This record gives sequence, C-alpha cells and structure tokens, in this order.
Amino acid sequence: MPAIGEIVISGLQKVYETKTGGFEALKGIDLTVGSNEFVTILGPSGCGKSTLLRIVAGLDELTEGTVTVDGGEVIGPGADRGMVFQGYTLFPWLTVQENIEYGPKLKGVATMDRRAISSYWLKVTRLEEFRKAYPKQLSGGMKQRVAIARALANRPKVLLMDEPFGALDAQTKLEMQEMLLEVWEREKTTVLFITHDIDEAIFLSQRIVVMGAGPGRILKTYEVKLPARRSPEVREHPEFLALKREIAQLLKH
Ligand code: ADP
Ligand code: MG
Repeated sequence: MPAIGEIVISGLQKVYETKTGGFEALKGIDLTVGSNEFVTILGPSGCGKSTLLRIVAGLDELTEGTVTVDGGEVIGPGADRGMVFQGYTLFPWLTVQENIEYGPKLKGVATMDRRAISSYWLKVTRLEEFRKAYPKQLSGGMKQRVAIARALANRPKVLLMDEPFGALDAQTKLEMQEMLLEVWEREKTTVLFITHDIDEAIFLSQRIVVMGAGPGRILKTYEVKLPARRSPEVREHPEFLALKREIAQLLKH
C-alpha cells in the first residue's frame, strides 16, 4: 500500500524535440518522496528542475520511466497535486478570497463551506485584512501567500513549488520560508520544492536532492540533520554551515 502523498519517480528520462533534434533534459532520475516529507531539489539553472516538477504535476510528458502519486500513474494535472510557481499565477479579476475559493468552487463545494475554507487560509497566511483586495493591490510576498493559500485550499496531498520565493526580497523571503514551514507542520502534506538557493534548501527541507546539468541528473542526496522545528537561528547551527559548505563544493564542480 503506497502512503498518502507518496511520489515515486523511476527511470525518468525527458527528451525535448527541438528543430536541431532531440535534447535530453533529464536522464535516469530515480526519486521517492515519502508521505509528509519535505524534499528540495537544488541545482543550477538549466539542470531540468522545472521540467521534473512539471512532469510530476502532469503538465509535461515524460519520454521514459514512470511517475506515480499514491501508486497511481500521473497522466495529467489533478487536484491531488497543488502547484505554486515563481510568477504570480493569481487570477487578476478575482479578489484574494475568490482566488482562494476558486478550487473548492470548481469542485462544487457549497458557499458556506467555501467561506470556511477561505477564512481558515486567510488566517493562516495572515491575509484577513486583504480578503477583498485584488492581486494588483498586493506586494510580491502577499501575492505568493495567496498563491500558497489557493493551492492548499484544495487540500492537495502533494504541494509542488517551483522557486516560489525566487522573486522576493531577502527579508520577505525569510518570512515566507517560516510561514511555509508552519503550514507544512500543520497540514503535513508532502512537499517537493525547487530552488537554486542553498540556504533556502537547508532551512526548509528534510532531504535535499542536488541536480547537475548536461543531461539533468541527480548528483547527490543529503539528509538534513537539523531539528524538525526550525527557527531562524538554525542558520548558525554547525550542521547547517557544514552542509552548506559541502553542497557549495559539490555545485562548484
Ligand atoms: P531549470 O528549471 O533547472 O532551470 P528547465 O527544466 O527549465 O531547467 O530546463 C532544462 C533544460 O531543458 C534547459 O536546457 C532548457 O533550455 C531545456 N528546455 C526546457 N523546456 C524546453 C522545451 N519546451 N523545449 C526544448 N528545450 C527545453
Ligand atoms: Mg526552473
């Protein structure tokens, strides 16, 4: 019996057809993300991180291999997998509350229940005051909080995040990382997170998968042996600094 929210990627290969022939973006990817686990994929630009996440999301097709979520093969997008990207993919014509309620509304959840869901998420993401605001009235960090709330309002088993904080300023980014960990602790969804920021990867994850390019492949996997409950001070922890040094070294080659 596969666990709830377990992702199993095996023998994954992705070849993009281009004008000049096939381009191998991913090769021999084997990765299992356990139920409730927070795994980060870290690697330089162009190593295939987004391609991998899009395949798990069902937004892109694989060439060889299999991807399953809860034992079921991924054949397209589904409500079991929530997505948050770097770009703000909110609906500009909907208010914050309507954006959060969008998924439940599609599923036919009754108005009263939808209101309960959005109230909960507005509270968790500290957006209550902005419930009636439109995306263009919000800062980058707030928009990303709405995007996370909107993804989680569907109660996905898996949260897929592609550099969601990449466009934010340093301070906002740290705040968002803490908020995400709080949410993850509360919801216990499986998270597959992408970044090229080593500090972000170590702060957030239980396990870090480092990828390299040419073709995109897994170089090494690290367990993050830090307390489950992370406070900002964890960034000074000897284990944090040692891991940071080791990963930086690996990425240099
Ligand atoms: P990352 O997210 O790690 O920066 P991507 O997954 O976006 O990497 O891209 C991996 C490689 O695949 C890059 O070399 C990129 O140019 C190439 N690539 C991405 N999408 C396509 C596509 N639709 N057609 C052809 N090549 C692509
Ligand atoms: Mg990318």
